[in-house]
Amino acid sequence: MDLVHKNEGMHYEGYCIRPPSEADSILLQATLGCSHNKCTFCGSYQDKRFRIKDETIILHDILFAAKYMQGQDRLFLMDGDALIIPQKRLMWILERIREHLPWVKRVGAYGNVKSVKMKSLEELKQLRKNNLGILFYGVETGDDEIRKEIQKGSTAETCCEMGRRVKEAGIELSVTVLLGIGGRDKSLQHARATGELLSAMDPNFVGALTVMFVPGTPLYQDYVNGRFVLPDEPGLLRELREMITYTNLTRGYFFSNHASNYLPVKAKLPSGKQKALNLIDAALRGEVGLKPEWMRAL
Ligand code: SF4
Repeated sequence: MDLVHKNEGMHYEGYCIRPPSEADSILLQATLGCSHNKCTFCGSYQDKRFRIKDETIILHDILFAAKYMQGQDRLFLMDGDALIIPQKRLMWILERIREHLPWVKRVGAYGNVKSVKMKSLEELKQLRKNNLGILFYGVETGDDEIRKEIQKGSTAETCCEMGRRVKEAGIELSVTVLLGIGGRDKSLQHARATGELLSAMDPNFVGALTVMFVPGTPLYQDYVNGRFVLPDEPGLLRELREMITYTNLTRGYFFSNHASNYLPVKAKLPSGKQKALNLIDAALRGEVGLKPEWMRAL
């Protein structure tokens, strides 16, 4: 009997989120939601209680992908932080992927400080050997005062340490930072501390997003009540400029081409830093057009 029916499809639950760079990947939902789910700006998993999905469902979806997704050679493990799955179970999932989808060259997942902390360096290396090739990690800010305010749940130092652990295991590290998250008053403080954290962590990729207010989140409420004021467009450009100035990567990329940003920047660091700063300066002088508000999105 055929266990996989085309009409049944993949067992996705709720709203599914993946990094923009994983648009062409097989999306395998192994967990629901985010185990932290407390960041004040994040509305990603408001509809979900965190849980790890049943192995039979996960296996069904792997078998479905084996039958109908043979043209996709990357796989992304959803939801929020699939890395939180206990090692034995996560290894089982990676082994089934390797067994049934041998053409998949790279598996990616979201991770946060808590989920990386739960894995030893040896365990991360074991995951790397089983094809976990990239981890997407939300840094948001390197400023401890702001990290506390947004309930990130960890200090900048631990965030940096865990990011370095991922890299040491041979897993590529792609991090996100959040322009505007310090508000107008702490804009440059946030930019500098974040640049310093990025320099110490030295990730492969940095993606800058700009704060967008999501109804239902605590940050949205603060914005509505006037307790949180986002820098204006020139302020956000100055923040981006300061952050890039303070970011020294040995070999990496700094992008601000996410749909939420006003100015897309793609800088290869260290060589492309000055070019990126010149572009921001030109935008500050009004010589480069910014994305209109209606085109911004999360
Ligand atoms: S850790 Fe990530 S997914 Fe979870 S609440 Fe924070 S920002 Fe959202």
